[in-house]
Amino acid sequence: MTVSAQLIPILSDNYAWRLVDSETGAVAIVDPADAKAIIAALEAAGGRLDLILLTHHHDDHIAGTDAVRAHFSVPVVGAAADAHRLPKLDQAVREGDTVKLGNASAQVIETPGHTRGQINFFFPDGEILLSGDTLFSLGCGRLIEGTPAEMFASLRKLAALPPGTKVCCGHEYTESNARFALSIDPDNTALQARAAEVKALRAAGKPTVPSLLSDELAANPFLLAPDVATFAARRAGKDKF
Ligand code: ZN
Ligand code: FE
Repeated sequence: MTVSAQLIPILSDNYAWRLVDSETGAVAIVDPADAKAIIAALEAAGGRLDLILLTHHHDDHIAGTDAVRAHFSVPVVGAAADAHRLPKLDQAVREGDTVKLGNASAQVIETPGHTRGQINFFFPDGEILLSGDTLFSLGCGRLIEGTPAEMFASLRKLAALPPGTKVCCGHEYTESNARFALSIDPDNTALQARAAEVKALRAAGKPTVPSLLSDELAANPFLLAPDVATFAARRAGKDKF
């Protein structure tokens, strides 16, 4: 029994994720912001959808939700804390709640920082993390609503997941993240290797994600920040980079 994740590029640099529970064939879509593209991708992959998962309320993550829901008649899961600014939720979840996909289930992790009500989903079967705009490859989300201390704590929670976890994030930002990361940690050989890999992938028009959490732990300057003050300085530096 395992869950697999496949990305669907949408909008300019967003990724929605199609998840499949291998045992039952149940399918979920994460952050379906472009209904036309998502419906086309799901129909091309067999026409099944069982569940919609939302990481946070920004338009580039939720815009297509109601149209996809109407097309497939499926429930929508999102953060209870942000129910007032998300599409209508059929399951409003909090830290530690469980979301079923076929015979698999995801743990809900509250990760405030980018937004106040941001949540991530972790499927232990398949070790898949839907990290939204919290953790990116070699980066993290901008602090639009949260404090550095909140985001630092959120990233610490994610860092404690199994090292083999596949980080399925909401944007293809890796190449610019790599440039910033190298500017503050130029001697990090894991980062140098990852930056070279990312450059080659992007030159070939390929996505750089999902990445492995173990690789992020070795190269991502926001996960490597030893304390809140360092994290805050790095996040402010990236905003101006
Ligand atoms: Zn966002
Ligand atoms: Fe976003």
